[in-house]
Amino acid sequence: MKTIIIHAKNGRLSDEELEMAAKIIKSGGLVAFPTETVYGLGADALNPEASRKIYEAKGRPSDNPLIVHIADPNHIEYISKDITDKAYKLAEVFWPGPLTMILAKKDIVPLSTTGGLDTVAIRLPADRTARDIIRCSGGFIAAPSANISGKPSPTRAEHVIDDLDGKVDMIIDGGKTTLGLESTIIDLTPDKPVILRPGCITKTMLENVIGKVEYDEAVLGKHPDDSIRPKAPGMKYRHYAPEGNLTLYEGDMRRVVEEINKKAEEFIRAGKRVGVIATEETKDLYKYGEVKSVGKREDEDSIAAGLYAVLRDFDEMHAEYIFSESFFGGNLGQAIMNRLLKAAGYRVVRVD
Ligand code: AMP
Ligand code: MG
Repeated sequence: MKTIIIHAKNGRLSDEELEMAAKIIKSGGLVAFPTETVYGLGADALNPEASRKIYEAKGRPSDNPLIVHIADPNHIEYISKDITDKAYKLAEVFWPGPLTMILAKKDIVPLSTTGGLDTVAIRLPADRTARDIIRCSGGFIAAPSANISGKPSPTRAEHVIDDLDGKVDMIIDGGKTTLGLESTIIDLTPDKPVILRPGCITKTMLENVIGKVEYDEAVLGKHPDDSIRPKAPGMKYRHYAPEGNLTLYEGDMRRVVEEINKKAEEFIRAGKRVGVIATEETKDLYKYGEVKSVGKREDEDSIAAGLYAVLRDFDEMHAEYIFSESFFGGNLGQAIMNRLLKAAGYRVVRVD
């Protein structure tokens, strides 16, 4: 298949480009487009054949459910039922934005979109172009991250092109995504809502609006135990792991730098390709291996935004060993470390 690539000028599409994207989605095709979190691979969420194509293009297991993206908050009533007051409150405060809510689904949503579940995940993105596409394409777009299953989510159009060129009808290049981490997912079907995936909308932000919220066991940074039945089918799948062996170092920053330098030197001497994940503040302190800054520690948004691109870069250079600083704490620590810990297979070295 020949993939049409469109470069959005200043992040915006012309009316003709928008119409072209909408036509593809309405006729059951696939369009990758940027949102404020990561790039999404969009198809008509109410067309079972179209959502099946998403699974095929990504190589995604068919019981890993998709998030339905809408452009008008009232549209939750068209696809979900038993909508609680908490859901309405969260929608009012956090939409448009990086929050996905799980609610009971109506029959109109095909099981092939929800991975066979009787619930549906819904999000209203903040990105204006994403909302334009959704609105013009019928209002309900299933859009998981636009990567091959098992790779880091794409935060730039080049990542999408690397993974999906030739497999989808259109890729819209809107530059770097602003947040860089996938949405926070909250399940509102139990009495006490549960966070299934941490993101830029934090537990505290949610609790300020609807009271007590819990984390699902699987997001607490523990190694997933086979005996825990995952709430979301997606949680049981192998998450992204870099080609190289990734280890996180945690503790006093000076000691972390010292230890990473020591290890990197040791592995370089042994003839290995070594990568170091540093920050703007520390990058000049590392002396061995390929050193990449993920962002500024002073500005945690920049770390979230830069993480996936750095992980992809190290795969591209076939790094055999990767040493990384840790990012516990702050508002985004939970979301950043959730991704990094999984990528590292929970290998963390404490150095103090
Ligand atoms: P992605 O869009 O690739 O970031 O993945 C979407 C994720 O949302 C899935 O892997 C699930 O973990 C979660 N999800 C989507 N729909 C549901 C649902 N109905 N119930 C629970 N989790 C869901
Ligand atoms: Mg994904």
